[in-house]
Amino acid sequence: MTYTELKAEENQYVMNTYGRFAIALDHGEGSTLWDVEGKRYIDLTSGIGVCCLGYNNETIVNAITEQAHKLMHVSNLFTTAPMVSVAKALCTRTGLSKVFFANSGAEANEGMIKLARKYSYDKYGEGRAEIVTLNNSFHGRTVTTLKATGQDKFHQYFFPFTEGFSYADANDIESVKAQINEHTCAVMMELIQGEGGVLPLDTEFVQQVAALCKEKDLLLCIDEVQTGVGRTGSLFCFQQYGIKPDVVSTAKGLGGGVPIGAVMAADTCDTVLGPGTHATTFGGTPMVCAAANAVLNTIDDAFLAEVVEKGEYLKQSILGFGSDKVRDVRGRGLMLGIIVDPDERAALVSAIMDKGVLVLTAGKDAIRLLPPLSISKAEMDEALAVLKDVLA
Ligand SMILES: *Cc1c(COP(=O)(O)O)cnc(C)c1O
Repeated sequence: MTYTELKAEENQYVMNTYGRFAIALDHGEGSTLWDVEGKRYIDLTSGIGVCCLGYNNETIVNAITEQAHKLMHVSNLFTTAPMVSVAKALCTRTGLSKVFFANSGAEANEGMIKLARKYSYDKYGEGRAEIVTLNNSFHGRTVTTLKATGQDKFHQYFFPFTEGFSYADANDIESVKAQINEHTCAVMMELIQGEGGVLPLDTEFVQQVAALCKEKDLLLCIDEVQTGVGRTGSLFCFQQYGIKPDVVSTAKGLGGGVPIGAVMAADTCDTVLGPGTHATTFGGTPMVCAAANAVLNTIDDAFLAEVVEKGEYLKQSILGFGSDKVRDVRGRGLMLGIIVDPDERAALVSAIMDKGVLVLTAGKDAIRLLPPLSISKAEMDEALAVLKDVLA
């Protein structure tokens, strides 16, 4: 089917909830994608940070195929080796101590919120359930995670939202202090606000929040749905901030393309969610965990060092265009935002896409790059030539 034919059927049968680009993708190899009409693209999106090892990655494909032949799914009433293995790898490589498996970022955050509230309920009883999040954050699309998201535009239509969230300004410890009272149980934040515009938090601010949480017995909850699994150059971004979070959520890149989310708890709170308090049918299912094991085995220290190098290469190359259009390049590792004039962004993005490079946007002024972590030098150079052409 051509794009036009597919789009007509999509319009007829699929709810119109996404502002999609006018491209229907068909297949991929490495960090290169082809659309249904055979046009080739260098991918700087990895499906919004999901396909961290690119497309048709042999290790992941083999892991999924072998596990599918063996056992695709069993309920969480049984134990499986792939699930235990992912949990063990996550714990040993982060210092966190137990994992709950979910299926998406929003769902991982729901688990994190439930854990924080129950921790406080168990210790202090009712009335200590409020969570401070940051303005400009993004935590998901469920009724609760929408309310956790500190952006007014997400607090529409779906009333009543879950109560118990208040919002502080990023990089302003006084603003966080002002939101904390005897009803607060946790602070929840991204370390680089992704959807909000690729905005990294200051190390000093994050350490101050961590100290405040410790002092007041609030759980420090870090949303690493986008920053996790190697994206910023360490397995998790918090490892670059010198903090010990109580709870970390992750999802996007963890399965390398299959749906998985995880809530990881430190030993301060890893027994809070006991039997019957939280569950999901698909969480930790073996086929998906086989993919996550392949991802985690691939992302070793040498691989992470390359992520840092590639990120630096892209950042310096883009700054090196010497273009007035590039106001800044923000981010860490392979989570980068090229900051441009908000009024020009749409035209720039569409020119970049037309020339065969896929990019994302974030916030009001960022062209967001989340390439597969495995992107090759040749693919980066091809993408940079297009970016230079359009931006310089
Ligand atoms: C994408 C994202 C989510 C939501 O994840 P879904 O898998 O879409 O539910 C939550 N938090 C952050 C930081 C994200 O980037």
